[in-house]
Amino acid sequence: MDGCVFCKIAAGEIPAEKVYDDGQILAFRDIAPQAPTHILVIPREHIESARMIDKSNSRIAARCLEAAAEIAESEGLEGGYRLISNVGADGGQTVFHLHFHLLGGRPLGERLA
Ligand code: AMP
Repeated sequence: MDGCVFCKIAAGEIPAEKVYDDGQILAFRDIAPQAPTHILVIPREHIESARMIDKSNSRIAARCLEAAAEIAESEGLEGGYRLISNVGADGGQTVFHLHFHLLGGRPLGERLA
């Protein structure tokens, strides 16, 4: 997708600190971390947001969750972590390529908003 920063990272056109890549799903450290561990899990395929998940692409979304669980284990987040996906402007989404924030490394509390 032209102009999409995460498509550019997936294509290797923009550098990122990758922690996972299985060809379909990619994960890299957030450039502005909000927790000691802050990783973004994305599909290589451009999907605008979780709002666009349907029967045709739900397997890819599920793969993101599988990868997140694997990454959380390799990052040593045994105590738990938060996995969130912002959707649309009101949801706080700023990059319109489906991604899951994997946050952890400290107690995050119960408040979500
Ligand atoms: P969201 O606001 O949910 O769309 O999240 C987008 C996230 O992408 C933010 O946490 C940004 O800090 C992060 N981000 C934007 N550009 C980059 C980049 N080039 N490399 C790594 N993370 C980025």
